[in-house]
Amino acid sequence: MIDLHTHSTMSDGSLSPEALVDYAITQHVSVLALTDHDSVSGVKVAIDHADSLDITIIPGIELSVLWRNVPLHIVGLEIDIDCQALKALIDEQGLRRQRRAEDISSKLATLGFQDAYQKANNLTDNGLITRPHFAHAMVAEGFCKDIKTAFKRFLKRGKPAYVPVEWVSLERCLQIISDAGGKSVLAHPLRYDLTNTKLRCLLDDFKAGGGVAIEVVSGWTNDNEVSRLGALCKEYELAASMGSDFHGHTMTPSVMGRLKALPKGCEMVIEGHDGES
Ligand code: AMP
Ligand code: MN
Ligand code: MN
Ligand code: MN
Repeated sequence: MIDLHTHSTMSDGSLSPEALVDYAITQHVSVLALTDHDSVSGVKVAIDHADSLDITIIPGIELSVLWRNVPLHIVGLEIDIDCQALKALIDEQGLRRQRRAEDISSKLATLGFQDAYQKANNLTDNGLITRPHFAHAMVAEGFCKDIKTAFKRFLKRGKPAYVPVEWVSLERCLQIISDAGGKSVLAHPLRYDLTNTKLRCLLDDFKAGGGVAIEVVSGWTNDNEVSRLGALCKEYELAASMGSDFHGHTMTPSVMGRLKALPKGCEMVIEGHDGES
């Protein structure tokens, strides 16, 4: 089984990179990409830990992008984590996250939840603050009953503690992943609430900018969605990727090792694998 989209405590996952690798082995995953949000700080640890184990680690990242005012996620696979352009981009994204976290914290203070920045930061391993860190902090104090509610009431787009971010552009993101020797994957394409026309427009821009693959199978996709995304791969002559988007046992979906197979005729983004389980 191959899993090309997972998170660790270096972003919003709940397992350390080492524990993630150990868990993947118990789920019979033989090829695992660690793709933390805007960070590669767990990659070396995961690779070193896997050295004596029966699993291959693919260096990855999930970059936050702003495309025509729509926030999107691009997964980079097989990247050189020492690439200077990539490191510079990660620093920039980190500053954007930092500023956003301060702004979210101010908004939450006016909504009755104090010191959110400090509380969220305390939950990180490396200072990279994501919205789930805020959600966890609010749940821990009983300000919200669960993570889903924290997003629904405060953190989602359109809600009172949402802060828009001018993330890197799609074009530049794709260029930098390619500079780092990697392959770009459009993550979970059906989670952006795009119309069919807008999704096609995105695929045109993605392909023109050097994008390589569509994430056809993820933790959320049902059979219809997998067929629809598989057909788009063929139409746009893009490869296919599969990844659980595993964040740990507490965040749903938790389907590492139980992904559906890629539709027939899709070409797997990582060479030497056919996407069968
Ligand atoms: P950020 O990159 O800091 O904006 O955080 C984005 C992450 O928040 C996503 O990768 C998901 O893990 C999580 N997330 C986004 N929307 C929701 C939601 N409605 N409920 C729970 N988690 C969510
Ligand atoms: Mn996440
Ligand atoms: Mn994502
Ligand atoms: Mn993800």
